[in-house]
Amino acid sequence: MHWIAACLIVWAQLAVAAGVGSDLRINVRLVDYADVPKATLMKAERQVTGIFHDADVATEWLNCKPISGQPPCVWIPTGPVLLIQVLPEEMIRHVGLGRLALACSIVPVESSSEEEFSTDAYVCFPRVSAMAISNAPYRERNDWTSAILGSVMAHELGHLLGIRAHQMFGLMYTPWSLQEVNLARQGRLLFTSEEKRKIQAHLHRRMIAAGYSSLGTDAALVNPKAGNQETRDGDLKSRLPTPTTR
Ligand SMILES: [Zn+2]
Repeated sequence: MHWIAACLIVWAQLAVAAGVGSDLRINVRLVDYADVPKATLMKAERQVTGIFHDADVATEWLNCKPISGQPPCVWIPTGPVLLIQVLPEEMIRHVGLGRLALACSIVPVESSSEEEFSTDAYVCFPRVSAMAISNAPYRERNDWTSAILGSVMAHELGHLLGIRAHQMFGLMYTPWSLQEVNLARQGRLLFTSEEKRKIQAHLHRRMIAAGYSSLGTDAALVNPKAGNQETRDGDLKSRLPTPTTR
């Protein structure tokens, strides 16, 4: 099996400077190694939940804290489990992500003959925060940080749920500019109709394969100035710790 790291890259000019109508659902296990302020994280999670609600997909969250010596998170998932690890700068350097990467997900290479289900995404919180600080009015920095963080997480979850390619507009567009960030703050940076259908179909297959019932059916976000940052990096997962505790 061959996997690649798909990394979300920010546009250089930014100076990095619920319930739904279908039974489709995801369980997101989030491990915050970056000590993101709780209010920021909760608001970002609500944004992700809203984005997937718009796609008729329910989202359940489990927030795990990486505290050694504690028992692992206890959780009975109700749907496919996706893992987001929010990383501080030293862990970003450790795993060797590109300097412009906001986030990455581990996805199968395009040539894979069998459908593989991706589970792992990584978000570089200091770079998300830096983007907000560099562009937001002082009093709006927290709101910008939450909006960018939520949109970055939703973008990566989109990759994990079968959206391989970047699009011309919407949440899966790349590279991001101030326009995308403003749309994110307004809750208008969403999946396109086609992407929603792809995610629903992918999730349906995934839920069936995992034995869940269902009624329904970054390679780089390329910075044109930096080139394609997509890397074939099967070692990425092995270089990150596996969260074991709440
Ligand atoms: Zn992407």
